Amino acid sequence: MIACLDLEGVLVPEIWINVAERTGIAELRRTTRDEPDYDELMRQRIEIMDRHGLRMRDLGLAIDAMGPLLGARDFLDWLRERAQVIILSDTFYQFAAPLMRQLGHPCLFCNDLEVDAQDRVTGYRLRIPDGKRRAVEALRALNFRVVAAGDSYNDTTMLGAADGGILFRPPRNVVEEFPQFPVTTNYDELREAFVSLSAGEMEP
Ligand SMILES: [Mg+2]
Repeated sequence: MIACLDLEGVLVPEIWINVAERTGIAELRRTTRDEPDYDELMRQRIEIMDRHGLRMRDLGLAIDAMGPLLGARDFLDWLRERAQVIILSDTFYQFAAPLMRQLGHPCLFCNDLEVDAQDRVTGYRLRIPDGKRRAVEALRALNFRVVAAGDSYNDTTMLGAADGGILFRPPRNVVEEFPQFPVTTNYDELREAFVSLSAGEMEP
């Protein structure tokens, strides 16, 4: 079995919300919870950063000061003892590096930011559209059982493609729109959900 986890909202806080708070630019608070069209959301973020003169080093300073959610490292260590774990995220390697260090360097599939010689963020490169779902489908094609957990809109195709999908602390609109996925609100419930969807492959 392979366990696939979303990153932001499951193991670490929302990175952009932290960046918004530390830079005082409230417009950067919007996330996939507010704007389901990821490309549109990123276009808005890049335009806002450019307008405020925000550079990659400013983003790096904000993210360096963040840590994982309380209990996230223990949960992830527990899961990695029982299943292979891949984190599937829409974030960027440049953002995630300091957080991965604090999580014990788990396997991460995400994307790249484009940064110019003046340290301005000018764009981003998605490896493939709908990468979370495509990763889960590829793993299942290799005959792995896949159980996935995430918190928001951008996870729902991944959850649907998996053998088992779990929501973790989702917003109300996602719960209402996707009643087929069990909802968990803390790491103990998330542990139980993984064990019960593992078809006997995971020890409690
Ligand atoms: Mg998330």
